[in-house]
Order: sequence, then structure tokens, then C-alpha cells
Amino acid sequence: MANSELQKLNGVGAATISQLNSLGLFTIQDLCFHLPNTYQNKTKVTPISNLDIGEEALIEGEVVSVQAIYRPRKMLVAKISDGYSYLNLRLFYFHPNQTRQFQKGLSIRCYGKTSLSKYGLEMIHPDYEINQKLPPLQKTLNPTYRICKGISQNKIKKFIQEAIKVYDFEDEAINLNHYGDDNALSIKDALEIIHNPSAEIPIDDLIPGGTHPARVKLLKEELIAFQTGMVSLRSKMKTSKAEPCIENGIWREDFLSMFPYELTAAQSRVESEINKDLIKSEPMMRLVQGDVGSGKTAVAILAATKALDSNFQAAFMAPTTLLAQQHFENIKNFFPNHIDEIELLTSGLTKSVRKKILEKIKLGKIKFIVGTHAIFQADVEYCNLALAIIDEQHRFGVNQRLALIKKTENQNIHPHQLTLTATPIPRTLSMSIYANMDVSVIDEMPPGRQPIITSMLSMQSKENLISRTREAISKDSLIYWICPLVEESETLDLSSVTQTHEILCDEFGEDKVGLVHGKLSKDSKNEEIDKFRDGKTKILVSTTVIEVGVDVPDADIMIIENAERFGLAQLHQLRGRVGRGSKQSYCILLHKDKLNEVSSERLDVLCQTQDGFKIAEKDLEIRGPGEIMGAQQTGIVPFKYANLIRDSRYLEETKLIAEKIFNEDRQLANKLIKRWVSGSMAYADA
Ligand code: ADP
Ligand code: MG
Repeated sequence: MANSELQKLNGVGAATISQLNSLGLFTIQDLCFHLPNTYQNKTKVTPISNLDIGEEALIEGEVVSVQAIYRPRKMLVAKISDGYSYLNLRLFYFHPNQTRQFQKGLSIRCYGKTSLSKYGLEMIHPDYEINQKLPPLQKTLNPTYRICKGISQNKIKKFIQEAIKVYDFEDEAINLNHYGDDNALSIKDALEIIHNPSAEIPIDDLIPGGTHPARVKLLKEELIAFQTGMVSLRSKMKTSKAEPCIENGIWREDFLSMFPYELTAAQSRVESEINKDLIKSEPMMRLVQGDVGSGKTAVAILAATKALDSNFQAAFMAPTTLLAQQHFENIKNFFPNHIDEIELLTSGLTKSVRKKILEKIKLGKIKFIVGTHAIFQADVEYCNLALAIIDEQHRFGVNQRLALIKKTENQNIHPHQLTLTATPIPRTLSMSIYANMDVSVIDEMPPGRQPIITSMLSMQSKENLISRTREAISKDSLIYWICPLVEESETLDLSSVTQTHEILCDEFGEDKVGLVHGKLSKDSKNEEIDKFRDGKTKILVSTTVIEVGVDVPDADIMIIENAERFGLAQLHQLRGRVGRGSKQSYCILLHKDKLNEVSSERLDVLCQTQDGFKIAEKDLEIRGPGEIMGAQQTGIVPFKYANLIRDSRYLEETKLIAEKIFNEDRQLANKLIKRWVSGSMAYADA
């Protein structure tokens, strides 16, 4: 990052830049918008006798005595008096010189959490300063930020203060007061307050969820910007053209004759919703939501047949090579008469093979293209692509989705877009997150599925579990065994696939236990999964690479180690790998011995229900939306400050403001989008 603009700040060199980058801070603007997690009030002194146990406070007094103790453990204890009461300051980590610092009679100021021991009131490792005479008290609240190694609170504070001074906020140009936002603060004002709040403001009003106008200013403007981006994206799509797909023909017939099941009512309904869009000359933007195992693939392939029968190309993009390959094999089976017109395109191909495939795609000889994001790379030219299907879109980074949109940006004809997701997003949220899409829901499971019996088990019982596993294998069970890490880690006490794989091999023999993780080559991965599918191996030890879409209908037991480390949505996805056939399936959530209350509540949700929407709602309640969608960086919830549940009361109002801005002032719309969402929504430029 040699030419980072962060260099402009005092005291920022290459090392600091890379540390700031690791906090997600790349620009001066990023620094300005890096808000404190919370604050310390160091503006007033609390008498020792008024301290509350467990609360943080600032005290001042005089050093009465100091002592370094070495048994039962090493510590430094300094006794402090404020003239009325005493308090012990206790340090477990200290330098011998530090003892000398605490000279009897010197003034001392400490900020920390008060605790009570049998020796009286204490502060353990408080922030403290000692001097003949103490400097004046701080006048503003003291923000504390998310920091990292090498960047102390003081450092980041200094950088942020300077950043706000030098940054041009363009507040004159981006003034939303004419558009119905009655907040009198500018963004610069709001940031000044948030980074330097006066001590009179209650801390609760300033932290996330707080109601101080400075907070509200930031989150509302963020919502307005996001919604402006959405409006702009939608309007762009509305004015572009797509190929109407109207024919039914041999592709569809082939599929229906090869597909071994009746479509569920929900699948048929969603199919017809899609078909209504496909016959139009305006591009479809439809999201199909359906729980894991609800049969989204069949619906997507049916949509593809519509395009194919109308003599256009269709593309099917999966988030991983593994999944792309599996879709490809599946799809070929459905269309025995069209084998030559279906091709797999991933990034792993040799140059010459790739070149040949690209040539055929360009000429329209290949009609159904399945692959990873490689299918939308710059050198891929389509003959007449009418439909792009994006599977499990929450797994794609923003950039990959961006590539798809950019791909068609300069064409008059856009492909219809069909997005599939198992991420169960509560309705209220999907309305605002996917404001630019229509949503269809597959709200019914194929018949004959038995509920998966899910239970929690402490790691202590792992041995016991292994012997139960032996029994299950003798009854022809196929077992997934999921671990969080690839290799043993010294710092984290987590089970690793390699370690678990060894243990299970010792127990059951190497030929019975397979192993899959992200570091294996594509071919080895597939080989392992095939062996498992064919029942040659009985246990497949794996990381979460199999989380998405892998389909082995006979697998009936899912064991997840360190389940407390995973998000609920992810556990639900993993569990969805079993219970696909008619056998009774089981899911065992192995967890560390001492679970805290939140974790045990979360895991319990999974034991109680299998309804993805209920799980998502619970997860939301317990942890907030950032988590359920699988982390901010997926770009699905691109918000820094707004929380769609907590702040839902602003959605209507900000949406109206956004529409008004978009209709009346494109330049302002662009500025706003750039300020807030340029990274994730660059493509939405108005
Ligand atoms: P997902 O929605 O998670 O992508 P899939 O499309 O992979 O689910 O389907 C899960 C399993 O259900 C597959 O084995 C598929 O063949 C099967 N399936 C799909 N539709 C039906 C149906 N209508 N009846 C019975 N099984 C079905
Ligand atoms: Mg799927």
C-alpha cells in the first residue's frame, strides 16, 4: 500500500498503514467513520466511598503504600487514599521499576472497574497516572475504538482527530435538509460529536442504538444512501431490455421425464412466477428463497429450459467449484440428448481447454453453461445469453456479483436474473435489502422427509459418541463429521479435521473414513465425496466446504464439533446435508464443556426447530442481523451503523427521501452513494 492516502496523516508510515488496513481502514474517510464502541467518562472524580462494584469510574488520591508480593502469585499492590477511604490498586503484570513509581505521598488518578475482595475495594489493572500534581481533568468523554496490534487507543484517537480536520466532507453539497431530513447537524458536526462528546451527554445515547441526533444523523443518512442506490439500480434495470423466453420444448420435456419426482406445489407456484417474468422483454430480477433441501435447483433448471427452448443460452453460477461440478453432473443427467451443449466452466481449466470452450460459447454451440464466477469473467463472450442463475448468492462476494452486472452493463440486452438463496431472511428485512428484486418463496419441503433429530452433546462425551458411531455404521449409516479447522492449532482449542480424521481412522480403519477440506485439490475433493456417496467410506470428515449444496441423499448423520463456534444459519445449512432421503436422520452438536448461556440458548434453537425462518428470526433476536446473513463482508447487509431490525422505524421515511433525491438530483444521489456505499454498490451509480 505504498501510495495510500493515509500517508498524509502525521506519524503514519508503511507499518501503520498495514495495521490500519487490517482494521478495514484504507482511506481518510474510513478513519472519520470509524466510530467508538463505547466511551469512558474521565471527566469527573468519584469519591472512593461512592464507587459502585462492577462499574467503571475515575478516582483521585494519594499513594499510601506499595508492596510487591511474590506468593501465592506475583503482584504489585498499591494502597490509595482519597482522604476518606482506601482502595487497593492491584497489578499482576508489572516491571520491578514500577514499584518505585508508586512513591508514598504522590498524587494518583485511576480509571477502572471497582471490585471487592476480602481486603476491601480494589481496581485491577486500571489506567493510572502518578505525579506530584495531576493535570486538569478531560473535558470530553473518552472514546474507545476497535483497535489491533500496533495501534493503541491513543494512536487511533490521534489519527481520527486529524482525519476529521483534513477531510473534505462536502457537507454543503450533500445537504439532505431540502429533502425532508430535518436533522440540523451536518455529517462533520455529527462525527465531531461522536468522536469528542461533551460529558453532559449520556453515554447510552451515543453508542449504537442510541438516540442522540449525531447517531441518528449517521444511521439515517446511511439508510438513505443505501436506498438511493437501490432505487437507482432498479430504474436502470427497468429501462433495459431482455430477451423474452416464451417457448416450451424438448429441453423442458427431457427434464420432466428425467426428474424422478413430482414437483411440490410450492415449486410449481414459483416456476409459474418465474415464467411470468421470463416472457417479458424487461429483465427479470427475481430472488427465490427456499430452505435447505426445498428443491431450488429443480426450479432453476426449469427456468433454464425456458431460455434454452427459446433458443437462447442459460448460465448457472455456483459459489464453489465443488458445487458447480455437482450441478454440472446433475444437469447432464437430466438432458441426455443435449450432452454436447452443456459445459462446465471453472477457473481450474487449462488454457487450451478453456479457449475451446469459450469459442463454442461465443458461437452458441454450448447453450447451458455451468460454473463458478469464472463464467462471468471478462473474456467470456456469450452468443445470446438470456438467463443468468446465481445459486446461493449470499456466498458470493460483492465483487463477483458486481462482475456479473458489469458484464452486461454496456449491452442493450440484459439477461434475466434468477437468484437462489437458502438464507432465510425475514420478510421485513428482505423488502429493504432486496428492494430491487421480486421475491418468490418455496415454503414447502418435498414429501416424505422426516424431521432430523437434533441434540447437543458435550465434547467430554466424544468417546462415547465414537462407539455409537460404530453401531450406526454397522446399520449402513453415512456420517458427516464436521470440524472448524484444517490443522491443529496451538492457540485455539478447537478440533481440527486432520486430528479428528486420524482418531477416526484408528478407530474404523483408513478405508472407511474420508477427508475433505479447502486445501485439497478440486479432484481429490470430488473423489472423496464420490467415495462417500457410493458408500465406500462411511464417515466423511470435513470442514465447512461441504456446507453449501453438497447432495448425498443417503447420508443420515451429521456430527458438528465445536458447534458453538458456528453461526446458526451456518449450522442449519450444515444440518441440511442430511435428512435428504427417507431415512431417519440425526444431527449431533458437539460443544465445549462449559457453554455460556447465549451459546446454549442458540444451539437449543436448532434442537427445537428445523424451520429456517424461525431459526433466522431467533438468531436475529439473539445476535442481530449482521450475523444471520453471514457477516458484513458478504455485502448483503452493507451497513456500518444502521441495524435493520432496531432501526426499522426509519425505513419508510428514508425510502421516501431516497426516491425524492433520485428523481430530483442525480448528482446528489451519486455523491451520497459514493460517500456511503461506494465499495459495495459502485455499480449502482445513478
Ligand atoms: P436446495 O433447495 O437446498 O438447493 P436441492 O435442489 O438440492 O435443494 O434439492 C434437495 C433434494 O431434494 C435433492 O436430492 C432433490 O433431488 C430433491 N428434490 C427436489 N425436488 C423434489 C420433489 N419435488 N420431490 C422430492 N424430492 C425432491
Ligand atoms: Mg442448492
